[in-house]
Amino acid sequence: MSLAGKLTQERRARLAAERLLEQKQAELFAANRQLGKHARALSEEIVETRERVRSIEDENARVRGELSTANARIQLVERRLWQSIETIPDGFALFDEDGRLIMANRAYLLPFEGIAAVGPGVSYMEMLQFCTEEGIVDIGDMDPAAWREYMRDRWQSDAPGPRTIRLWNGRAIRLLDQRGPSGDMVSLALDITAEVRSKEVLRRAKHRAEAASRAKSAFLANMSHEIRTPMNGVMGMADLLRETELSEEQALYAGTIRNSAEALLGIINDVLDYSKVEADRLSLQVEGFDLERCLHEVILLMQPKARDQGIDIWLDYDLFLPTRLRGDAGRLRQVLTNLIGNAVKFTLAGHVLIRVVGMADEGRAELHITVEDTGIGIPADKLGHVFGDFNQVEDAQNRRFEGTGLGLAIAQKLIRLMGGDIWVESVPGQGSVFGFTITLETDTLETEEPAPDAPCRLPQDLRRVVVAGRPEGARLILERQLAQLGLQVQSCHGAAALREAVEAGADLVIFLHEGEAWSDQALGSLAPEQPVIVIAAARGAAHPHGGQVLQMPMARDELFAALARLGQQRPMAPEGPVLQAQKKEPVLPEKRKLRVLAAEDNRTNRLVFEKMVKALEIELRFAENGREAVEGFATFAPDIIFMDISMPEMDGKEASREIRRLEAEEGAGRHVPIVAMTAHAMQGDEADIRAAGIDHYLTKPLRKAELIARMVAVEVPDVRPVEAGGLSPDG
Ligand code: ATP
Ligand code: MG
Repeated sequence: MSLAGKLTQERRARLAAERLLEQKQAELFAANRQLGKHARALSEEIVETRERVRSIEDENARVRGELSTANARIQLVERRLWQSIETIPDGFALFDEDGRLIMANRAYLLPFEGIAAVGPGVSYMEMLQFCTEEGIVDIGDMDPAAWREYMRDRWQSDAPGPRTIRLWNGRAIRLLDQRGPSGDMVSLALDITAEVRSKEVLRRAKHRAEAASRAKSAFLANMSHEIRTPMNGVMGMADLLRETELSEEQALYAGTIRNSAEALLGIINDVLDYSKVEADRLSLQVEGFDLERCLHEVILLMQPKARDQGIDIWLDYDLFLPTRLRGDAGRLRQVLTNLIGNAVKFTLAGHVLIRVVGMADEGRAELHITVEDTGIGIPADKLGHVFGDFNQVEDAQNRRFEGTGLGLAIAQKLIRLMGGDIWVESVPGQGSVFGFTITLETDTLETEEPAPDAPCRLPQDLRRVVVAGRPEGARLILERQLAQLGLQVQSCHGAAALREAVEAGADLVIFLHEGEAWSDQALGSLAPEQPVIVIAAARGAAHPHGGQVLQMPMARDELFAALARLGQQRPMAPEGPVLQAQKKEPVLPEKRKLRVLAAEDNRTNRLVFEKMVKALEIELRFAENGREAVEGFATFAPDIIFMDISMPEMDGKEASREIRRLEAEEGAGRHVPIVAMTAHAMQGDEADIRAAGIDHYLTKPLRKAELIARMVAVEVPDVRPVEAGGLSPDG
């Protein structure tokens, strides 16, 4: 190869190498540029990261700062909390789930003072051990191990109940422990010494008050007894004195003694009752009784006073209501006596009307009883006040009436005790209405009571009835009652009106006889065969026409019986003096007298008893104590025994028990009625007395009428009627 070729070749190679170099340089440059870019990015990243690290470090520093403030604050709160817990006088402690003490305040640890082991970490069981071993707790006679066991069981239960323990120094500590969700126990030990002491003081005070109240009741019972015994003498003797020959002046004095004694007795009874109701010592004695009869008895009692004042008392007892009920008859009578007594007392002219209405079904009767008067009335602003204790309407009008102002307060309490309600409405100058509602069971004894839709069986041919005479109010009530029985009633007053009504046709004439002259004439002019029932206002009133005589006020069953008898009696005897009351039987000589045994240790009271019954057809024997009464029962075979309760040797209750025992031994089914006569008028006496086998109960001072009523009620065949001349209830 030529040189030129070689040169060309070399130049070409050099050119190629230069081109390669150029290319490599370009590549290197590109790579350098890429590297530079990466390096820049990397350094940016480093800067960023550094910044981030710095900010995190700042944040950390801030958080660290905050944490330390928070810690400081927590420590402060904890310190304050603990200081507070330390200052409370009650014990506070915290135990962990294993029962080890975490912390406790000073009050909690105080009883354990001086025992070094008691501090954080000590277990509850160890603390119990110290309690008994060191005598910290007064456990009485309880065995220490038993006490600890009891306390441990309590501690281990899920929800330990509160428990009061007593420390050696007498302080009472109430333990309240509460388990937390993690098993920790918060334990409180409250010092309740003051509370326990004041409770104890209260308990003692209550005990003392009760004792005082019992003493007061006992005192009242004794006082009642002590006053009643001589009162029996005073009243009985005053009665007897009035029955002797007295000058007008002497009779006035004797009457005043009697009335004053009666008034005093009323006050004693009121005060006693009131204190009994106040002390909640009054309970009701429920028994079967006849409400209508009870009302009649109260009316009879009020009758003399009403008659003196010239006012009438009428009873309107709904014909379709039962009269046999179950309730506390004595207490109901007390309410009625006060209401009717008030009505009579505060009424100077007109009448008092007692109305009994209501509803009866399924063995219960809802009664609505009102006492209406035409008296002085009560001003509206005093109406709410009359039921208060010792409250009387104080004005010139009222001041002339006697009373203690307790009657209505007692009546209200009694009615409320019976579950009823009592109220008053009044218009001054026109009159008042006092009313009450009570619901009583009807008495199942009432077998004779006809069904409510037929209160009475009437003779078939009885249709038209003429009701004549006065008082008008009574006539109106009768008229309404007869109409209720389905009869056609014509009401009239005066001889001419009666004649006219009878001429128009009358199956029966019912004549209300007040004792006026025209009445006798009018009755005398009726045909002898005309059926007549006379209802006499005055006792013993005779009239010139044969026929039945009823006494006013009459129970409605007496009226029913009289109506029923009409059917059997007709035709009537054309003539004849059939003037006496129905129930009287002719006295036959072979009948013996009723034998009455009276046990009474007090000589004056024996005398009073003897004089009270002296007019009766009875054979009386006295016993001076219970033992003699039992002897008398055996030897004298009495038909009825009156028994004083407090007597020497053997008291009335014991004697009665003995008599009942003898009767049972005899086995002949004999049961002599025993009537207690006692000066004990406090609650509870009656039940006690009845438990001794005594049937009836009379409180002293005895009333003649009550004694006689008891004797009349004795059912023995072949004895003469006790009263030859008929019962005299206001004797
Ligand atoms: P006590 O009944 O204790 O003997 P009292 O009859 O005065 O005394 P309450 O029966 O409580 O006492 O009656 C209280 C008062 O209510 C009477 O004093 C009287 O002022 C008035 N009052 C009661 N009933 C009537 C009445 N029917 N008419 C007018 N005022 C009456
Ligand atoms: Mg009164």
